[in-house]
Amino acid sequence: MLQNSYIVWSGASLLDGSEIALILTGFVYPTSNRKTGRLIQSWILQQEFVPTSAAKNGLDQGICGNCPLKLSQSGSCYVNLLPINNIYRKYKTGTYPKLGTNEIEVLKRYRDPVRIGSYGDPTAVPIEVWEPIILQSSCSHPHSKKNVLSIAEVGDETKELPAL
Ligand code: SF4
Repeated sequence: MLQNSYIVWSGASLLDGSEIALILTGFVYPTSNRKTGRLIQSWILQQEFVPTSAAKNGLDQGICGNCPLKLSQSGSCYVNLLPINNIYRKYKTGTYPKLGTNEIEVLKRYRDPVRIGSYGDPTAVPIEVWEPIILQSSCSHPHSKKNVLSIAEVGDETKELPAL
């Protein structure tokens, strides 16, 4: 049965080597508003730190790199971290199943858009991880798919409250 949220990948951040994870939410209850329409969200999290704590203490290097908007720098990032804390807690309890070929087929069938990097810098995650998601969905990023696949140009641009 299709779940709302999945772990896509966990491993070493390409930004600093720390342990991070990529989670997709919204397969059953996609974000929906006038601006975005239906949208599956992607969240990049430090494995060992609650998001609010990581942001406050500058422990978000593995997911946000040297972004000047970080809370520990200018603090102008407008991502609401509180709902992301809930995603993190569910992730840590092992609630989320692993994304598999069935879910990739769902993306392919329905072409729901996926927001690449709802939280965190997408370049922290290997392109091989993003590739099947981007190719089988209707990627919501304003750049073309070709550019998204060159991922250096991808930026996060949230921010809707997620259905967990
Ligand atoms: S979530 Fe994105 S915009 Fe916000 S601090 Fe991290 S990299 Fe920068």
